[in-house]
Parts: sequence; C-alpha cells; structure tokens
Amino acid sequence: MRPKPPPDYLAGYPATLVEPVRHLIAQDRLGEVLLKKYPLAHDVRTDKALYDYVLALKGEFMRNVGQVSKVIFDSKLQVIRQALGMHTSISRVQGTKLKSKREIRVATVFREMPPEFLRMIVVHELAHLKEGAHDKAFYQLCQHMEQDYHQLEFDVRVYLSHLAAGGQMLWSATPLGEAVFAGVE
Ligand SMILES: [Zn+2]
Repeated sequence: MRPKPPPDYLAGYPATLVEPVRHLIAQDRLGEVLLKKYPLAHDVRTDKALYDYVLALKGEFMRNVGQVSKVIFDSKLQVIRQALGMHTSISRVQGTKLKSKREIRVATVFREMPPEFLRMIVVHELAHLKEGAHDKAFYQLCQHMEQDYHQLEFDVRVYLSHLAAGGQMLWSATPLGEAVFAGVE
C-alpha cells in the first residue's frame, strides 16, 4: 500500500525524532520495528478488566483523588485522532460532566495494544482527574506514575501514525505469528 501523507500525531516533536518514523512508514517497515520493541499484547479485553486495571493503578498513585464511577472502552472514540491530542478540546467541552462523574473512557483502539501503551493512556487519563490541562504539572504527574511516560506517549503516537498511514493493527487478537506477518508484509 502506498503510504499516505504523514499525519500530525507527531506534530510538535523535533524533526530528528519524526523523520526516522516517516522514513520507516515510507519503507513499510514501521510495523516490524514496533513489534520488535513491543512484541506482546496485553490481555485487558473487557470493560470490567479495564475497570480493575484502572482502579489498581489509581490505588497505587491517586488514592485521594475522588472515586471513579465508570471505566469503559469507548468505541465512540474509535476515531483514533481523539484518543490523544484532541483530548484537550474534548475535556473543555465536557469538562464539568467528566469531572463530576469521574468517568474514564479509553478509546477502543487501546484494547489491542501492548501493556506499555495501555498503561500510558490510563496514566494519562488518571492524571486528568487532578490536572485538566496538558501543562507541566500534568506531565510531572504522568511521569510520577510512569517513569517512561514521554517515550511511551511518543511510541503510541508512532503507532497511531502507522494506522493513519494505512498500516494494519499490530496487536489484534490473532495468534502472534499472524500479527507479525501482518506487520511485515
Ligand atoms: Zn489529555
């Protein structure tokens, strides 16, 4: 498949980081590289499992920040552009509602990803319980919960770029051999 023009999930990152990603997309090798770095998929497949996962992390780092009433994989966020990046405007529109209800919605695309990526997005959403904006305090809180937060957010954005360029899902619920094959074909 001919790669589409580079998407903007990596906007704001320096060219020294973005160019190699674009190069790999152009060569159709990005999937292979991602699977080598993150070979395994997590097994948090249901809303219940996600709820337990979020509550465990919250209990570890954010015990005193209210109650989380609802945790779901949200297929309405399946437009992956909304999973990250668009988040600021979404929380501005729905800010009061989200804050009062303490709901955590994770885009369905994260159901089939490596454990590191799931942890990144959950850390991100947990940090929003306390910090609304993507500011310094927000990212410090993210890093407190996950030391590699910045690298993981970058790598998630790399994967979203892979999908946006027409690449296949790399960690779908197929046997690993098939997933690897899908990634390198
Ligand atoms: Zn956010």
